[in-house]
Amino acid sequence: MLETSKNSILKTLEIQRSFFATGDTKPVSFRLQQLKKLKKSIKENQTKIEAALWKDLRKSPEEAYLTEISIVLGELDHHILNLKQWTKPKRATTPLFLRPSSSKVIYEPLGVALIIAPWNYPFQLLMNSLVGAISGGCCSILKPSPDAPTIAKLMEEMIAENFDENYIRILQGGRETNTLLLEQKFDVILFTGSSKVGKIVMRAAAEHLTPVVLELGGKSPCIVDATANIDVAARRIAWGKLINAGQTCIAPDYLFAHASIKDELLTKIALEIEKMYGKNSQESRFYPRIVNTRSHQRLQGLLKEGTIHTGGIVDESDLFIAPTIIDNVQEDFLIMQDEIFGPILPVLSYQNIDEAIAYINKNEKPLAFYYFGKNKQAKAVLARTSSGGGCINDLLMHITNHNLPFGGVGNSGLGKYHGRESFLAFTNQRGIVSTPTWIDLRFKYVPFKFFKWTKRIM
Ligand code: NAD
Repeated sequence: MLETSKNSILKTLEIQRSFFATGDTKPVSFRLQQLKKLKKSIKENQTKIEAALWKDLRKSPEEAYLTEISIVLGELDHHILNLKQWTKPKRATTPLFLRPSSSKVIYEPLGVALIIAPWNYPFQLLMNSLVGAISGGCCSILKPSPDAPTIAKLMEEMIAENFDENYIRILQGGRETNTLLLEQKFDVILFTGSSKVGKIVMRAAAEHLTPVVLELGGKSPCIVDATANIDVAARRIAWGKLINAGQTCIAPDYLFAHASIKDELLTKIALEIEKMYGKNSQESRFYPRIVNTRSHQRLQGLLKEGTIHTGGIVDESDLFIAPTIIDNVQEDFLIMQDEIFGPILPVLSYQNIDEAIAYINKNEKPLAFYYFGKNKQAKAVLARTSSGGGCINDLLMHITNHNLPFGGVGNSGLGKYHGRESFLAFTNQRGIVSTPTWIDLRFKYVPFKFFKWTKRIM
């Protein structure tokens, strides 16, 4: 594997530090110019991006556009439209005891950012994070995943063509490069990947007290209640689970269906799968492949327990796993231990919603949470559970609204991004009090004369 040398890392970091120190990245006009440049480059390279995603993951151009390219373009437009407003200092209320001082928050760039992305949405995840770094006025070193090498190379070329390396640079590599990068002092790190590597990142960041945003994974539950619209739920579940062949951080990991509707639901999900991918999904140009043999073998290992309701066909030489539903799943099965990250849907059932809630709550807090059923009950279930985000009667769509903070909680992540949250992730919110000198009340000074009065107004 191609790794970046320590020298190259140190040199890039040094020139980025010097460039950041010039203050040139701070003016809003500069940031807007860079966002527009990135947008232009993405539009010009759209066909190449789609071809690279096909090569690395066999994503159809339609899926590549909907789940990667359009999301970044939408995020760029949102930032271009709002950045002026976001960067303006905001007045804050000043309490009585501080009058006649005034208070405001000013937004300053954190400095040089490190952005590390995984392979499953290799374009969207690296570029969307970069949008935040540009908006925040930071310099950035980006490290794409080596497991999606074609798109990683293309992004490197696009960035090198449009930005000086003292401002933004892509460095290629795997674990070795990451380890070297993480030894350095950055001003902020945005990491997207597994919870396991997230811990490594946070440990390394702690050494320098570097702030981190950790966008991690986990087992996101999907509850389907007896009150749900089963036809709609089945269609949305088939779609949400199988986009990118289930290799989606917010994919519904497992299903919790009310026992009274479980059989009907599974039959309908199977029908929807066939409608989308045909009788033989291996022949569909819309059905992506598993990223590599290691991942394929791991997924094969999850097919051994429970009853295969639908699918179950695998072809390692083609990295293919058919859309699979596994029924009669028990909590202690291997498939219920870690994030699945593939096109396999295990199904558990419940008689009383308390059983589903108790199970969800005894496990790690998930990145997403999905509930199909009547709104009133949905509200009650939300109030008794926790997750990074989620949808009621839908799947995945919360990620598409840049007015919503996106991220995990607990084991599924730390910090949020998208929209204004992305700008804030790369920004120091500096609280400033300005005090006039024409008056200088004595209350705060030693020996605290008028202490009795001071206590009353504080
Ligand atoms: P990963 O954690 O294995 O790798 C992520 C990045 O870390 C890659 O760039 C990789 O090269 C690097 N890396 C791997 N091992 C490392 C180590 N020991 N030390 C330092 N760096 C290391 O994740 P992945 O397999 O690429 O992606 C899948 C995971 O990412 C899933 O858990 C998924 O849920 C999560 N994910 C989360 C989001 C989100 O937005 N929250 C989005 C996509 C994927």
